[in-house]
Amino acid sequence: MRRGRRPRVIVVGAGIGGLTAAVALRQVGIDVAIYERAAELRPAGTALSIMSNAVSALGTLGIDLHLDKRGRAIETFQFLTHDGRPIRTLPLKEIGDRLGAPSVNIGRAELQQALLDRLDGHPIELGATVTGFEATPDGVRVGFADGGEAHGDVLIGADGFHSVIRRQIAGPARPHEPGYVCWLAVAPLRHERLPDGAVHHYWGAGQRFGLIDIGHGRVYWWGTKNMRAAAARDWCGGKDRIARAYAGWADEVREAIRVTPAEAIVSVPARDRPFLEKWGTGPVTLLGDAAHPMLTSLGQGAGTAMEDAVVLAGSLAGATDLPQALRTYESRRRARTRRMVRTSRQLSLIEQLESPLPRRLRDAYFRWVPASVLYRQNESVLTYPAAMP
Ligand SMILES: Cc1cc2nc3c(=O)[nH]c(=O)nc-3n(C[C@H](O)[C@H](O)[C@H](O)COP(=O)(O)OP(=O)(O)OC[C@H]3O[C@@H](n4cnc5c(N)ncnc54)[C@H](O)[C@@H]3O)c2cc1C
Repeated sequence: MRRGRRPRVIVVGAGIGGLTAAVALRQVGIDVAIYERAAELRPAGTALSIMSNAVSALGTLGIDLHLDKRGRAIETFQFLTHDGRPIRTLPLKEIGDRLGAPSVNIGRAELQQALLDRLDGHPIELGATVTGFEATPDGVRVGFADGGEAHGDVLIGADGFHSVIRRQIAGPARPHEPGYVCWLAVAPLRHERLPDGAVHHYWGAGQRFGLIDIGHGRVYWWGTKNMRAAAARDWCGGKDRIARAYAGWADEVREAIRVTPAEAIVSVPARDRPFLEKWGTGPVTLLGDAAHPMLTSLGQGAGTAMEDAVVLAGSLAGATDLPQALRTYESRRRARTRRMVRTSRQLSLIEQLESPLPRRLRDAYFRWVPASVLYRQNESVLTYPAAMP
């Protein structure tokens, strides 16, 4: 790259990670070209948790989620038995208060809009499917499915779970599928057992249900159920089978399913990948699910993508040796994301337990583990690393 010229970064993928990266890179004065395979930017009609660490990361980018209009800060986070008896409350609200950043639940479309607002009309090239890249003497060239190409100084693969950029760096690899399905939806519901700002996770036998207030009379819910990996991948059982799977569960769980239109329910298999130690080569790196896809138990896939974006922009800001700046970014992110992938798997294993005795031991552990332990474990996840002393 010529001295004094602003670097040009190609971002592949306009998901949560790619959009946040584009905002962060523009904020440090880097030119960004965003290429997205989809013909239009249409997020899934569901929701997600953006935990304190990610809210802090977004704060450094001047992104305000406008919770008065868009989502809901978490007031209480509780584990319960399948029929609604409390097991334990997690101190997420207290930790968020101490960090000055609440954990929030928000519709995916609303989060996407908050990111697009901050991009301020910056163009996104839609219908542009990247097929691969090639390093050149002065940067990198990407190829598109229609035969076109684009040149940049740096390439960020933010192209999600099935990333072609990752495949070119690391080779093909089969996903890890623990063998359960996730159903999710947003529905209109107010229920006396779900107070404002409440997050309830109900634990059954090889089956869970999350019921989450996202404000404005809406809930986000998700359910999981153990089954063979192939069955989870191809699940097409319909709303009636989901309702039957939750017969006998807490009233608010059954009510959430009952008021949800069948066509609003999305089904996805649980899956992640073995942690990848090498995210990049030369002027190319990965971010978000392309780098470190994780199971959903910690609610941190998008959150860690946001952290990546801020750290990446910080590493590239003012750098003259761009490949070296990318290696610095990767080394700053590796330990934390490796821990998130591992902890999500461990948590998922104990949350999907099916046999009665291990479930009783798990519930007893969560009932009696000292509050200070729960606080410490959650605080390290919820603290945005750049804000650590
Ligand atoms: C059931 C479920 C619940 C979840 N809940 C939470 C939660 O509560 N909190 C949380 O933080 N995370 C959660 N996650 C994880 C979160 O959704 C992901 O980690 C996050 O969306 C990853 O963002 P990304 O930008 O890296 O990838 P993606 O969102 O997958 O975006 C990748 C983008 O790249 C585009 N693309 C792909 N290939 C190409 C190509 N060849 N050329 C051009 N463009 C391409 C895609 O079209 C897409 O727009 C959940 C995930 C699931 C499945």
